[in-house]
Amino acid sequence: MSGNDCIFCAITSGAIPAEIVESTDTIVAFRDIAPKADVHVLIVPREHHANVVDLAAANPALLADMAAMAGRVADAQCNGEFRWVFNTGPRAGQSVFHVHGHLLGGSELPWGDA
Ligand code: AMP
Repeated sequence: MSGNDCIFCAITSGAIPAEIVESTDTIVAFRDIAPKADVHVLIVPREHHANVVDLAAANPALLADMAAMAGRVADAQCNGEFRWVFNTGPRAGQSVFHVHGHLLGGSELPWGDA
């Protein structure tokens, strides 16, 4: 699923709105519509890959750039401390099949210790 069928392609292209925190030529960070922590930002590449494994195989430099953006967002919003989660596969809770890292931070992190 990509292009017109993919909600995160629509958000990164600007076709549908989101609360954007930071964007570059290759990556958009925006707030999750149903936050599960004080800070819950999705780090999403503009390139469509179904999950983090596919992205790492196809374009590892882009994954590294996503990590750098997560660090900048966390520096600005939660003292640089955060959890970064990639749900991978429906049984692991993935519901949008365009790779995205959940940046979770703030005073109340869900799920306790990993
Ligand atoms: P996952 O279940 O890991 O695939 O995560 C998908 C995330 O996307 C969920 O946490 C949703 O709340 C979030 N989400 C879905 N639609 C939107 C949207 N239009 N804007 C922001 N976040 C969204």
